[in-house]
Amino acid sequence: MSVLVTGGAGYIGSHMVWALVDAGEDVVVVDRLSTGFEWAVAPEARFIRADIADTAALGAVIRDHGVDAIIHFAGSVVVPESVSDPLGYYHNNTVNSLGLIRTAVETGVPHLVFSSTAAVYGTPATDAPVSETAALAPESPYGVSKLMTELMLRDAAAAHDLRYAALRYFNVAGADPRGRTGQSTRGATHLIKAATEAALGKRGHIDVFGTDYPTRDGTCVRDYIHVTDLVAAHLRALAHLRGGGDSLVANCGYGRGYSVLDVLDAVRRAHGADFDIRMAGRRPGDAVSVVADATRAREILGWVPEHDDLDGIVESALAWEAGLTRRNRI
Ligand code: UDP
Repeated sequence: MSVLVTGGAGYIGSHMVWALVDAGEDVVVVDRLSTGFEWAVAPEARFIRADIADTAALGAVIRDHGVDAIIHFAGSVVVPESVSDPLGYYHNNTVNSLGLIRTAVETGVPHLVFSSTAAVYGTPATDAPVSETAALAPESPYGVSKLMTELMLRDAAAAHDLRYAALRYFNVAGADPRGRTGQSTRGATHLIKAATEAALGKRGHIDVFGTDYPTRDGTCVRDYIHVTDLVAAHLRALAHLRGGGDSLVANCGYGRGYSVLDVLDAVRRAHGADFDIRMAGRRPGDAVSVVADATRAREILGWVPEHDDLDGIVESALAWEAGLTRRNRI
């Protein structure tokens, strides 16, 4: 019995692989290395360089390794890129997921955990924490491509012997506390990654996109979740499905928000020195406040976050970023 992790050489996938290996699972990774790195994959896992579009290769991997569960991360994740290349996103995220789900059904894999996103909600109607029953109104092809995959899973699970968990991630950040992997993606645009790069002098400055929002300090509010807690939720989802639990959709966040300025203060504290922060205009498409109601993950999956601490998240991200430079990997 083994777990297939698609996209296991990427940021979240590589943390997932370590968590599975730590839990004693046999793991096989399929990744085409378009944005991931083979060195990020735990050496205990079997690594196969392949594109998930290659369903024949996927089928062979599933049969050869006795796969009973798939955790599906492979896909494209840059929201503005999805706006300029929607068909590329529908291909990578939706069409390729269709092929994966079909292969799972045809080869009899009974469990699938899917990497979904809070982007399926678009801009929440209120600033209150958003629950899974909120309106689904994605505002980018990225969000739509993920929602379409959730719907395919729902319908495939109704028709076939497949149960799934779709986990809707809020703002994932941080790195493995043991320093084994972290966010290594080149040209990342996410706030904590970009801020640690600015603090370490890898980029000249960081822009604060919008200071006139109707929030406490005028900057946008997000629910930043430590990647270690996020992958722990996947382990719980896997146990839930293997234990006979029903398919479910669940938010992954902590239920509290921090502003952009809160995050930059945390980076300054962790770094111990100032860096160049510039107030800038709003970034198109940003929602004012996006915070998770994660009651379902806690109650149904028994998920208990252990790293709900902005300073800890930022410290782990900064440590990883500094190590990337030291090891001259990127
Ligand atoms: N942000 C910022 N400067 C940056 C990157 C992000 O001010 O260099 C802001 C962005 O406008 C948003 C928040 O930080 O309000 C989180 O953005 P991120 O891209 O990390 O995640 P998103 O919530 O868009 O998925």
